Amino acid sequence: MNTVTRPRILVVGAGFAGVECVRRLERKLSPDEADVTLVTPFAYQLYLPLLPQVASGVLTPQSIAVSLRRSKKYRTRIIPGGAIGVDLKSKVCVIRTITDEIVNEPYDYIVLAPGSITRTFDIPGLTDHAFGMKTLAEAAYIRDHVISQLDLADASQDPAERASRLQFVVVGGGYAGTETAACLQRLTHAAVKRYPRLDPGLIKWHLIDIAPKLMPELGDKLGSSAQEILRRRGIEISLGTSIAKAGPEEVTFTDGRVIPTRTLIWTAGVVASPLIATLGAETVKGRLAVAPEMNLPGDDGVFALGDSAAVPDLAKGDGAMCPPTAQHALRQGRHVAENVIASLRGQALKPYVHKDLGLVVDLGGTDAVSKPLGIELRGLPAQAVARGYHWSALRTNVAKTRVMTNWLLNAVAGDDFVRTGFQARKAARLKDFEYTDAYLTPEQVRAQAGGSGGAE
Ligand SMILES: Cc1cc2nc3c(=O)[nH]c(=O)nc-3n(C[C@H](O)[C@H](O)[C@H](O)COP(=O)(O)OP(=O)(O)OC[C@H]3O[C@@H](n4cnc5c(N)ncnc54)[C@H](O)[C@@H]3O)c2cc1C
Repeated sequence: MNTVTRPRILVVGAGFAGVECVRRLERKLSPDEADVTLVTPFAYQLYLPLLPQVASGVLTPQSIAVSLRRSKKYRTRIIPGGAIGVDLKSKVCVIRTITDEIVNEPYDYIVLAPGSITRTFDIPGLTDHAFGMKTLAEAAYIRDHVISQLDLADASQDPAERASRLQFVVVGGGYAGTETAACLQRLTHAAVKRYPRLDPGLIKWHLIDIAPKLMPELGDKLGSSAQEILRRRGIEISLGTSIAKAGPEEVTFTDGRVIPTRTLIWTAGVVASPLIATLGAETVKGRLAVAPEMNLPGDDGVFALGDSAAVPDLAKGDGAMCPPTAQHALRQGRHVAENVIASLRGQALKPYVHKDLGLVVDLGGTDAVSKPLGIELRGLPAQAVARGYHWSALRTNVAKTRVMTNWLLNAVAGDDFVRTGFQARKAARLKDFEYTDAYLTPEQVRAQAGGSGGAE
C-alpha cells in the first residue's frame, strides 16, 4: 500500500528536457517537500547531436551516453521502463518495465518529456528497409552495417553487387541528415584506403530532400557553403526529391531514378512520441498543446516540454512554436522544474521565453558551418564553435573528458574501421528500434489505470 504523503512528481523521459528538469528539482526541493521519480528505458541521457560522430567512429558510443547516476545531489527514484499511457483523470501513468511488467504509477505532478520518434510516410518498403538515426543502437548498427558493405563488396566477384553495396542514400537535409551523410562519407572515404581491391570511384553517397534547400535555418549563403563542401567531397545532393519506394537492394527516387543500394538512412524529421496520443488531449501536429508556462490548460499538475510538446515560442511570436531542438529542450527542462516547484508552493507560474542562439553543423574533419548569434562562420572557426558548444553542453565532467579524448585520439590516430559483429544476422530497421507499437490506446489506458489505483 502506498503510505507516502509527500507530493509525487513523475518525470517521463531522460533526455535533454527530462534530465535538466530532474536535476533542478533535486537541487531546489528539499527531500521532504516532494518525491521525484523518473521513468526511462535507458540508464543514460543520450547526447543526440553527436550521434553522427558515433556512426562514423569519431566517438565511441559510451562517450555520448551520459550517466544518470553521476550527480552529487542524486536522490531520484528511477523506474527502468517506458511509459505506455497516461490517464489524466485518475492521475496514473502506465509503465512497461524493461522486464515487460506493467506497472501503474500514480502521480500528483507529471512532467512529460518523452521526446520524439522518426517521422515516416506511407512509402512502400520504407519502415522495412530504412535505418533511422535516433538511438545509440541505431548509430552503432549503421556503423557496423556501412563497414560490412565495404567488407562484402571487397569479397564479392559480382560487379553489380559491388556497385550496390558501395552506394548509400541518406534522406533528410536537416542538420541530422546532413551531418550523418557528411560524417559517414568521411568514414567510407578513409576506410577504402584499407581495401586495395575496391575502386574508390564506386563509392557514392546521395543526400536527398523534398525541400528546395538544405538546412534552410542557416540562411542562403551559409546553406550554399554547406552544399558546396558536400558536393566537393563527392556527395550527390538532390533537392525537391524524395523516395517513391524502398526495397532490400534498391531505392526508387520520386524523379524516377532507381539507385542500387543496401543502405537507406531516413532522417526526414521527427514526430512527438506516441505516448502523447494516449492522453486523448489536444495536440498541434502531434505535439501536446501546452500553455507558455508548459502546463496543460485545465489539467492541474500536467506539464510537457521538449520535442513532444508544442510550446509557444514567445520570442518569435506570431503563434510560432519552439522548434524541436536540444537548445530549447534543455532550457525548457530547467524552466518547467521552476514552474512545478511554483505550483507546489502555490506561487505564480512563469512563461518560457528563449531567443534562439543559432545553429552549429559539424561536417567532419575541419569542415563545418555555424551561425552563433547570427554570425556566419565556416571552416575551422565554425568547427571550433560547433565542438566547443557541444563539449560545454555535455552534462558531466567525465563525459566531457571522454569526448575530448576521443576527438584527440581520432585526430591523431584515425579510425580502425572495426566491424564489431554486434549486428544481428537478421536486418534490423526503423521499425525494430523505435518500439512504436508498445503504446496503449486511450481506452486501454483508462481500463489499465482504473484497474488498480496504486503501484503494483
Ligand atoms: C542526429 C541528431 C542530431 C541533432 N543535432 C542537434 C543539434 O545540433 N542541435 C540541437 O539543438 N538539436 C539537435 N538535435 C535535436 C535534439 O537532439 C532534440 O531536439 C532533443 O534531444 C529533444 O530533447 P527531448 O528531451 O525532448 O527528447 P530526447 O532528448 O530525445 O529525450 C527523450 C527521452 O525520453 C525517452 N523516452 C522515449 N519514450 C519514452 C517513454 N515512453 N517513456 C519513458 N521515456 C521515454 C528516450 O529514451 C529519451 O531518453 C539532433 C537530433 C538528432 C537525432
